[in-house]
Amino acid sequence: MWDKQAAFRRLPAVHRLLSLDLASERLGEYPLSRISDAFAAVLADLRQWFEETTPDESAWDQAIAVQNIVERARAVLERQFLPRLRPVLNLTGVVIHTNLGRAPLSQRALEQVAAVAAGYSNLEYDLELGERGSRHSHIEQRICDLTGAQSAVVVNNNAAAVFLVLQELAHGSEAVVSRGQLVEIGGSFRIPDIMKLSGVELVEVGTTNKTKLRDYEAAVTERTKLILRVHTSNFRIVGFTEQPALADLVELAHSHDLPVFEDLGSGALYDYAHAGIGDEKTIQESVRASVDVVSFSGDKLLGGGQAGIIVGKKRYIDRLKKNPLMRALRPDKMTLAALEATLIAHLDGELAKEVPVVRMLTEPQDSLAARCEQLFARVKETGLLEFLDVAVDNREESQVGGGALPLELLPTTVLRLTPKAHSAQHLFDQLRRVPAVPVIGRIVDNTVILDVRTLLPGQEEDLVNSLRELRDVYARP
Ligand SMILES: *Cc1c(COP(=O)(O)O)cnc(C)c1O
Repeated sequence: MWDKQAAFRRLPAVHRLLSLDLASERLGEYPLSRISDAFAAVLADLRQWFEETTPDESAWDQAIAVQNIVERARAVLERQFLPRLRPVLNLTGVVIHTNLGRAPLSQRALEQVAAVAAGYSNLEYDLELGERGSRHSHIEQRICDLTGAQSAVVVNNNAAAVFLVLQELAHGSEAVVSRGQLVEIGGSFRIPDIMKLSGVELVEVGTTNKTKLRDYEAAVTERTKLILRVHTSNFRIVGFTEQPALADLVELAHSHDLPVFEDLGSGALYDYAHAGIGDEKTIQESVRASVDVVSFSGDKLLGGGQAGIIVGKKRYIDRLKKNPLMRALRPDKMTLAALEATLIAHLDGELAKEVPVVRMLTEPQDSLAARCEQLFARVKETGLLEFLDVAVDNREESQVGGGALPLELLPTTVLRLTPKAHSAQHLFDQLRRVPAVPVIGRIVDNTVILDVRTLLPGQEEDLVNSLRELRDVYARP
């Protein structure tokens, strides 16, 4: 009589599986305890499969053959030793894609990270004096040279920078902010919350669309320690709007002996506006306007790794450096190495184009179109056209992303994939699940578009491989 008990009795015991020559042949490279766990997991899966499907005897015997079990255990082990944080192909055309790791690092930055992180470095050692040095010293002068600031310090990210500056300059007092700048950046980073956390009392002035200089003036009291200006990174209020000019705000603050802190958010060193992309003010412009402290992200428009960069007048930056929070917020050597390499590239506007974010944002459409045509030719060779209609479309637009330049759309050329038998959502899901490198596209009007703007040099091969795997998925009976 064929029942669960009879079926389960035929399952080989783990200790028997472990003693097989086949096991040592196929799994020998893994530690014994892991192999044993993998066998147990496969056996549990098989039991579950039986419960769910009640296979007949011959199907069951085939499934529980030791060769099968050993190969399934190998798959389990391979998966276990594979990193779960892994590369994906960004074909969304969103250049600074927060979900996909924001800014890719330049070759120069990667090499510098590897060089510094693989061994020892002078992270906190002064090679001139032969004594203890500061991790901040290497990079401070470079940031100052590029931005024109007196002093600079780097922390883990811009959220940390904002927290540190508020805590140091206005803890237990008031800071004045325009109502039009009480923003939420995403990931629950809201200006009012971060002010509360840093012990700063928020004094809102003006209205959502209009704040005048005299609103600030009227709000300043003896308890005011700071005027805060926040870049409304990810949205724009358009129409009947007003904010005082930065220079006027600075003049007002200074006439009351108050510092101005500007959270610039994206922080462009490269002059994107000059290159015809958006209207983003550079960090240099804020420094020139005599803003006392300016903070910005390292991995948005700057194109480096995750970091928060704070520049400004020496007397304020010195205070930040001495704040005990600094120890908790300080950047790692890899961050500093990547950032310094990225800054070196920014010494020269042309060189800055080796920084992937700068290059991708400034790539002209004829170059994108040429790359897209080449890709199209390769896609034809994969045999995918049997299952998808594929067309080159040069009427699409890429986005900057990262909450930067939200209104700026960059003309681009894309591959438009229309599945013959499935929905666009199905295709989108399959692209994301290919065994090799996942492909993340974008759904537009029941098609999936692949925007080559964010396909990095050298990734075409990976993309074609992934598309071949997609073809295999569709070709499966
Ligand atoms: C992005 C952003 C932040 C947070 O920066 P992270 O580097 O992501 O921590 C803070 N303020 C503004 C205005 C931003 O745009």
